[in-house]
Amino acid sequence: MSGGIESLAGAARPADLAADVCVIGSGCGGATVARVLAEAGREVVVLEEGPDRTGLELTQRDAEMYDQLYMDRGGRSTDDLAISVLSARVLGGGGVINASDVVPIPHGVLAHWRRRFGLGELTDDALAPFAARALEDLSASRVEEAQINRANALLRRGAERAGLRGEVMLHNRVGCQGMGTCLIGCPLNAKRNPRFVAIPAAVAAGARFFTRARARLIEGASAEVKAVHVRTLDARGYRETGELVVRAPIVIVACNAVASAELLLRSGLGNAHVGRNLILQPQLPIVARFAEPVNAFRGIPQAYAITELEVEDHPEHGLWGSRVEAIMGTPGIVSTLMPFVGRESERMMAQYDRIAASLLLAPDAPSGHVEAGEHGRPRIRYTHADEHKARLRAAARVAARAYLAAGAIEVLVPCVPPVVVRGERDLSRLDSMSLRPASAPLLSAHQQGTLRMTGSASSGAVDPDGLVRGTRGVYAMDASIFPSSASSHTMAPILTMARYLAEKLAARSG
Ligand SMILES: Cc1cc2nc3c(=O)[nH]c(=O)nc-3n(C[C@H](O)[C@H](O)[C@H](O)COP(=O)(O)OP(=O)(O)OC[C@H]3O[C@@H](n4cnc5c(N)ncnc54)[C@H](O)[C@@H]3O)c2cc1C
Ligand code: SF4
Repeated sequence: MSGGIESLAGAARPADLAADVCVIGSGCGGATVARVLAEAGREVVVLEEGPDRTGLELTQRDAEMYDQLYMDRGGRSTDDLAISVLSARVLGGGGVINASDVVPIPHGVLAHWRRRFGLGELTDDALAPFAARALEDLSASRVEEAQINRANALLRRGAERAGLRGEVMLHNRVGCQGMGTCLIGCPLNAKRNPRFVAIPAAVAAGARFFTRARARLIEGASAEVKAVHVRTLDARGYRETGELVVRAPIVIVACNAVASAELLLRSGLGNAHVGRNLILQPQLPIVARFAEPVNAFRGIPQAYAITELEVEDHPEHGLWGSRVEAIMGTPGIVSTLMPFVGRESERMMAQYDRIAASLLLAPDAPSGHVEAGEHGRPRIRYTHADEHKARLRAAARVAARAYLAAGAIEVLVPCVPPVVVRGERDLSRLDSMSLRPASAPLLSAHQQGTLRMTGSASSGAVDPDGLVRGTRGVYAMDASIFPSSASSHTMAPILTMARYLAEKLAARSG
């Protein structure tokens, strides 16, 4: 069979399709399993709600790119509007819009999964070849010294002066020219994400990818052949224009943790754990103002992390604590994250070239809940735990100490009211910063856990093969399966686990 990428944009009644495997979602999980199964000789159809955008179609314009590359145009949030829930809607998924940081699953996390979730077969030895393959597919390398921009260098200098542990991160860029717009796509195609690695390989092996194709319902989950009901979308992805059915004995959901759970719930599939145990890893930005230009918008945005407070083998939680990572947003992102309007906002943005920013990242306990909401969109319920807020406050102290040590005039947490730190004596102000719903620009980029994998049916939605319990031949192979935070960054862990599960499936169904 000859593979390819076909847009169904605007199609009213495209022909129904049949295959051995229907994969829903073409991101880190979906593209990987499509490749493995196509290379194992299966006929694979992949459905992707987003468009295919590469090269100069990635225009570096905020509004246009949020509209075209992000789920719900970047406007998705928790029910109480406390946390912005960001994920991709584009061929290749999150890899196209993410910050390209590569952090494999720590050993302590695997040990936690074995101990706490009965996943005994996930030993370091069993996963090592898959983790290595993920790094190879990502062309992962340490960011080179010459590529570390001034904003990242300042955070590192401050951390070193303050005696804080940190590291230059691994990334998946090749041929990067430091244009700085990774979060809205790379016009140079410099990210070695699924769009340029797994998808071309899957197509070469015969997989067929259909874009602007939204899976709405999976029918016949216990039948030999399932029917996936699909709606086509218009070219901009605003309206549904037509429908078709894909029939396959094996269906793999890989729509990202929120959308995968929502699709199963809407289809009435799985056990009582479907949609529960959502992990959001809420992140909080922090900004430092310097007297001289930093030009943080030039170069690789996220290259250095302070890991002083991070714990990889917490006995109760696995990955825990917090970390601080330099980052920079485009003017559109920065201005919307700042709690200022009018003149104040103007004054702040006039300093755009003098600010450096970081994200405070802290893993959270699985506690949220996805529901199938109205109008075919998910509802995300999540209560931001006081304990998590405390770890964010501790991370803010670490970031502020580093920035002050690097010579920042002031450090600001953009919550309402903003917290401003101008010296060591002000650090205690961070302990009282408000993190009430909608009073701080909290965001989630690493949703996980809604179909968590466990050894026992009484504690999770999918079994150690990725099979959705209560179905015959419906699997989950994306971020939804992680029973606790897989890493501070999820792309490499998903590539690892997706290949591991897909190879097992190929061997079983061969
Ligand atoms: C802004 C941002 C920055 C990030 N930075 C990093 C980073 O630096 N390093 C890192 O490791 N991770 C990062 N991540 C996280 C990482 O990219 C994601 O965890 C990862 O992409 C999730 O993989 P996935 O396979 O679960 O889903 P995705 O890669 O999100 O793919 C899911 C795909 O399914 C499609 N889809 C959804 N519903 C349907 C449907 N009903 N029908 C058809 N298609 C559907 C979506 O359009 C999407 O393309 C970042 C994420 C974001 C949002
Ligand atoms: S920093 Fe590198 S990877 Fe990011 S958008 Fe620019 S060229 Fe692409």
